[in-house]
Amino acid sequence: MVATTRFAPSPTGRLHVGNLRTALHNWTLARKAGGRFLLRIDDTDAARSEERFVDAIRADLAWLGLDPDGEERQSARLAHYEAAFETLKAAGRVYPAYETAQELDLKRKVALGRGLPPIYDRAALELTDAERAAKEAEGVAPHWRFKLDHDAPIEWLDGIRGAQHFEAAQLSDPVVRRADGSWLYMMPSAVDDIEMGVTDVLRGEDHVSNTAVQIQMFTALGAQPPRFAHEALLVGSEGKLSKRLGSLGCDAFRETGIEPEAIVALLSRIGTSQPVEPIADRAALVDSFDLAHFGRAPARFDEAELARLNTAIVHQFPYDHVAPRLPEGMGAEAWEAIRPNLERVEDASDWWSVITGPIDAPEFDAETRAFVGEAAQLLSWGADPWGSLTGALKEATGRKGKALFLPLRQALTGRDHGPDMHTLLPLIGEGEVRARLARAATA
Ligand code: GLU
Repeated sequence: MVATTRFAPSPTGRLHVGNLRTALHNWTLARKAGGRFLLRIDDTDAARSEERFVDAIRADLAWLGLDPDGEERQSARLAHYEAAFETLKAAGRVYPAYETAQELDLKRKVALGRGLPPIYDRAALELTDAERAAKEAEGVAPHWRFKLDHDAPIEWLDGIRGAQHFEAAQLSDPVVRRADGSWLYMMPSAVDDIEMGVTDVLRGEDHVSNTAVQIQMFTALGAQPPRFAHEALLVGSEGKLSKRLGSLGCDAFRETGIEPEAIVALLSRIGTSQPVEPIADRAALVDSFDLAHFGRAPARFDEAELARLNTAIVHQFPYDHVAPRLPEGMGAEAWEAIRPNLERVEDASDWWSVITGPIDAPEFDAETRAFVGEAAQLLSWGADPWGSLTGALKEATGRKGKALFLPLRQALTGRDHGPDMHTLLPLIGEGEVRARLARAATA
């Protein structure tokens, strides 16, 4: 069976960094196994699902380079859920229930008040045919619950959490269908995982108890459950799932100059025993990915760490990778000269304008003007104009270190720091270098 994973977002909002991490890990797992990665849009909740979010999900995955091998939509599969529901009904594994939300709430409060877990009491199973008929005659439409098999212990070997065990009797029979006929998440997801040949379900640990229920659904539908793994959740650097993390997504990253490679490198490694490293090579990240490296402690997402990783990754980018985003006319030599000074690719235009000019001419005192004037005299344009200029000036003036280099850098770039002058001078060009020196000597 081809290893198949899926990412199953509900299109009720933008993807945040926690969702991106789940998508990435499922994509990576599939790529590593040479299998398939599916995008499944969980849009059974018609009222809250929006098409613009579906588009945004696709765009975010594309930006991160997480190309799906197929896309499915739950709203197009309602007939499949109906069929599975009929199967479960015929097998006595779903039953109608008539309690109102208020009644259920009261039951929960009473149980909690008695110090008992708030598990649904299965009162609906006790109704006689006559009582059910009476409810229906009153116009009360039932919602439907999946009947857990209390005699079957629920067990699985979780890819991250290890051996898991649940007592079915400790769980509420989940509602699978609302009174208006619409579906809740639990059953359609299991039906899809079966029919789409999903072999590996990798998701957040907030789904562990759903897995317990869904394992019984797989069995009740005559299918072998897939492998399950549940990751510890993502927390911010301050140690909790902050509001900020919940709203941080691809748009925010793009706006601050964070590259998809940096996000992928960080999200591949946090929460694992492997070090976070500036690895831009996707294949290397895929190769080193292993669920066995994941720990049970929450994964810490630190924006400062992301920024550092981003800088290190920008410094590795070859010209071809960034060329379309660079200013008109900026070539490979300029990119390579400027690259070590960048935190973000977009800042290249700032340094490019230093190369092309005009620059803000510095205002020097008389002594420095004289020194720069001498530089203009001594400049000879050969293979390494900077090397020969500073060599000649050192000899002629006795200046060295900062006193030698800083006025020249300021005269030629208008800045105190920046890319290596050896590489910068040929990019600025002889005519412009002479003009800048002359201007600074007289300004
Ligand atoms: N739509 C569900 C969610 O976003 C999918 C969970 C799953 O992976 O099964 O939580």
